[in-house]
Amino acid sequence: MVQYLLPQGMRYAALEERKEFYTKEFDVDMATEWFRGGLSGVKFAAIIGRHTGIFLEKYREDAETTIIIDEYKNISDVKEQIIEFLPEAVYYDRNLYNPEDKGVGQELAFDLDPENIECPIHGTLADKMARRQGLGFCEIELDLARKETICLIERLEKQFSGVQTVYSGRGFHLHVFDEDAYKLSFKERLALAQQVKEEGFHIDEWVTSGESRLIRLPYSLNGLVSRIVLPLKKDELESFDAFHDKRCLPQFLTSF
Ligand SMILES: [Zn+2]
Repeated sequence: MVQYLLPQGMRYAALEERKEFYTKEFDVDMATEWFRGGLSGVKFAAIIGRHTGIFLEKYREDAETTIIIDEYKNISDVKEQIIEFLPEAVYYDRNLYNPEDKGVGQELAFDLDPENIECPIHGTLADKMARRQGLGFCEIELDLARKETICLIERLEKQFSGVQTVYSGRGFHLHVFDEDAYKLSFKERLALAQQVKEEGFHIDEWVTSGESRLIRLPYSLNGLVSRIVLPLKKDELESFDAFHDKRCLPQFLTSF
């Protein structure tokens, strides 16, 4: 398994660290608050060890699978299931489902990852892929992604009102909570994604078009880089520092 090159201070979280985080630090109240409409119909998902190769031995067979968590009583129950799997990543499904489990809309989102940005040192994504470093990134790329996110927010706010930023651990996610945006068709999403790309933004087209409907759960742990997935206010992004901001640093990195 390839070890991705990561900026200094970022590294894979060990199983014990994932356990410590989800047992002691994972803020279930804040995670619940993220879902303005409540948790009913929300599906969660976990990936145990696809990119890190770190997993509990009993889950070896399922280490690369996307495990859907859609049977739970409440958020504490979701937390218990996460502690059982100790995954490298936790997501939620952006689709809205009605009580009959039929998809009735989708949260619009934009994913801006640092590896998509051309780096003066590491080159383009194609260069990085050729070195099997498709998920690797550096400090410069992360900072360029942050600046580009600020521009993308300004771009999207001309069209939408409920744009929320999240630091994903590697890059940034923009979530659009406008009611109209939930109703966009696949074609409309794809057209918007392509338009935004043409404008020069390095977004993941699959996320915006909705083909890829899972997105990282805010306040969960990104086990690839050992960072807490953190919602940010627009004005915080200007000075946001993923290396020192205590809100995104799990205790296992800061306590000695
Ligand atoms: Zn770089």
